[in-house]
Amino acid sequence: MNKAVGCLVVAAAMLWPAGGARAGSGGGGSGAHWSYEGAEGPANWGSLGYPLCASGKNQSPIDIGGNAAATDLDEIQFKYAPAPIQVKNNGHTIQFDYPPGSFITVGAQRFELVQFHFHTPSENTIQGKSYPMEVHLVHKNAEGGLAVVGVMMQTGQVEAAHGGHGAEGGGLETIFGALPAAANLTLTSERAIDAGRLLPHDTGYYHWMGSLTTPPCSEGVRWFLMKEPITIAPAQLTRFQTIFANNARPVQPLNSRNLFIKARSGGGAGAGH
Ligand SMILES: [Zn+2]
Repeated sequence: MNKAVGCLVVAAAMLWPAGGARAGSGGGGSGAHWSYEGAEGPANWGSLGYPLCASGKNQSPIDIGGNAAATDLDEIQFKYAPAPIQVKNNGHTIQFDYPPGSFITVGAQRFELVQFHFHTPSENTIQGKSYPMEVHLVHKNAEGGLAVVGVMMQTGQVEAAHGGHGAEGGGLETIFGALPAAANLTLTSERAIDAGRLLPHDTGYYHWMGSLTTPPCSEGVRWFLMKEPITIAPAQLTRFQTIFANNARPVQPLNSRNLFIKARSGGGAGAGH
């Protein structure tokens, strides 16, 4: 299990500019350049050719306030398999593209894991509290519907279950050892990466309907934010932040949306905070 230590082979240097091609003209999803600060920052995404970012009423991220309702929601069943991963720095985050075969089921719905990526600081907040990082595991069902599982990341002593020491590989140390620093660079992990190492023990979660947190800010996204954070090493956070100091969209108004809480497995309903 413990072969090559280096882990990464340069597979291809992608040639498109960060954020996609410069805008053409109007027609839907123009691909205009955007960023997290200044004139191309989140406050201006709407006028850069992504109108939904400004006009949408169900936008992400959000602050999970005290008004979430404890509800008898379905358990999320995680069926993630370790796999070699294409890791790309797309100019906005580091994205780990997952091959087919890993999925979640929520009730009767099955969503394939497509990719995961990171934000710093966290995009969602809990009672106003921000975490140093948040991972988004992006899934898609057969109809193209999206489900994002968010996991908050705090810093501290990494648990063996999350692969901090790399004995088995596939965990946090493998993941954070595989970050391409240069924009538009794609690497292939030589070692398998296990998205399951990014999950907390507690299966409780918050649920609401939201959007992509990046342009074009498309809505209809099912959000599941795990209640329990995972812990990464301070050096791992630093490794990401030297590449992206801030790639988080500010929280958006909840408007008329409902927020739900799923208590942990086996726990009774009504276990809010
Ligand atoms: Zn994200």
